[in-house]
Amino acid sequence: MAQVTKSHAKQKVVIVGAGFGGLSAAQALKHAPVEVTVIDRQNFHLFQPLLYQVATASLSPADIAAPIRSILRGQANARVVLDQVIEIDRSRREVRTDSGRAIAFDTLVIATGARHSYFGRDDWADAAPGIKTIDDATRVRAKILRALEEAELETDELARKALLTFVVIGAGPTGVEMAGAIAELVRKSASRDFRTITPHCASIILIEAGPRILPSFPEDLSRTAHEALDAMGVTVMTGRMVTEVSSGSVTTASMRIAAATVVWAAGVKASPAGRWLDALTDRAGRVVVERDFSVPADPSIFVIGDTAAYPASGGAMLPGVAPAAKQAGEWVGRLIAARTAGSAGPKPFRYRDPGSLATIGRKFAIADFRRFHLTGFPAWVLWSVAHVWFLIGFRSRLSVATSWMWSYLTYERGARLITGHDMALADHAIDIPHQKDAA
Ligand SMILES: Cc1cc2nc3c(=O)[nH]c(=O)nc-3n(C[C@H](O)[C@H](O)[C@H](O)COP(=O)(O)OP(=O)(O)OC[C@H]3O[C@@H](n4cnc5c(N)ncnc54)[C@H](O)[C@@H]3O)c2cc1C
Repeated sequence: MAQVTKSHAKQKVVIVGAGFGGLSAAQALKHAPVEVTVIDRQNFHLFQPLLYQVATASLSPADIAAPIRSILRGQANARVVLDQVIEIDRSRREVRTDSGRAIAFDTLVIATGARHSYFGRDDWADAAPGIKTIDDATRVRAKILRALEEAELETDELARKALLTFVVIGAGPTGVEMAGAIAELVRKSASRDFRTITPHCASIILIEAGPRILPSFPEDLSRTAHEALDAMGVTVMTGRMVTEVSSGSVTTASMRIAAATVVWAAGVKASPAGRWLDALTDRAGRVVVERDFSVPADPSIFVIGDTAAYPASGGAMLPGVAPAAKQAGEWVGRLIAARTAGSAGPKPFRYRDPGSLATIGRKFAIADFRRFHLTGFPAWVLWSVAHVWFLIGFRSRLSVATSWMWSYLTYERGARLITGHDMALADHAIDIPHQKDAA
């Protein structure tokens, strides 16, 4: 009797993480005769590429997040568990969670993404928050807006200068987008609403350790983006390694900059999945996986997205971007469905690179489609359409498109709210006497 029940029991597929990779894997299993359990520590799927717009008050958090339960509402074989995974017992085939649950699996897909890396200086995190989550973005937003409020009333010239100095560390796409968006917020929007803040009294500084900004883009596009930032009044410093960050200042080998607002956009490391699995990882902490995204010697445990180190064609690694996570999730989902049905699996995984886009302010972008490049307003329109299109959920699409159109026409920032209790004035204690001019 027990044996009969077992042979009819459905395969338990557990997916950890409902980001781009995890959700695609779950959705690819929609028609498979399996039980899908999606575990995430938050109850919403987050569209990370637009987090910087939340951090700079262009969009509200709800514009870029959609409840996981709503997304999977129509998928009868899927259930959602709100919990944080802390451990995986490979021999017992169980996932353990923060709240004490043990969730059994036959097949496991880990898609837990990445987090900030401060390159061994985690003590910088408070002074230089990054933007990876909604909480991060609203915290940065509060920091920027509070600095403006204080600057409005500050009478000491040096203290005021520090309050109006915004430093972004790291000039990858996130850093560049963040610097451009801060420049627009401070110079265009804020200068209209505050009495003492004029468009030119703020400094926005983008610091990069490497020789050029946007190192993952071709040189011509990187140069164009640099010029666009210059034109917006952003001071771009390349070849400068940050050696110290403290509350109110950033230090490089040659200077110390007093700045009330510092944003970290310099590095990421994978989620701790490698530790949970006791698996081989690369320098960024990503789990080294086989060509089918499985963990070596364990064909029913898969790792995808930002948590995986996957050798793509030409010796390069699969990039840590949303399309790569989505395509891997979909492919692994189809592989699991085929295995369950006893049919042939999908063709070997091949990444279809849709190209890269980065935006600089509200009317300029660069686009790299390998065969051709696009810059300026046409690239920005393309960027907007692509981002709105990929937002999950109709409400978000409509709401984001409307917010963008409104802010495009008026420079209004509808989400200019200071929220949270961790933004006490003391956060901005600035060590002015050591200040050297940044410019
Ligand atoms: C600010 C920013 C801007 C970006 N801009 C772009 C861009 O313009 N274009 C682009 O293609 N890519 C961009 N990316 C990268 C892109 O967002 C990632 O590559 C993509 O999200 C990776 O998908 P994923 O499924 O691996 O992880 P994620 O989408 O990060 O999802 C991971 C999920 O796992 C959950 N999770 C994590 N740990 C646990 C745990 N222990 N227990 C339970 N759940 C857990 C998280 O809550 C999250 O929902 C950007 C990233 C950031 C942070």
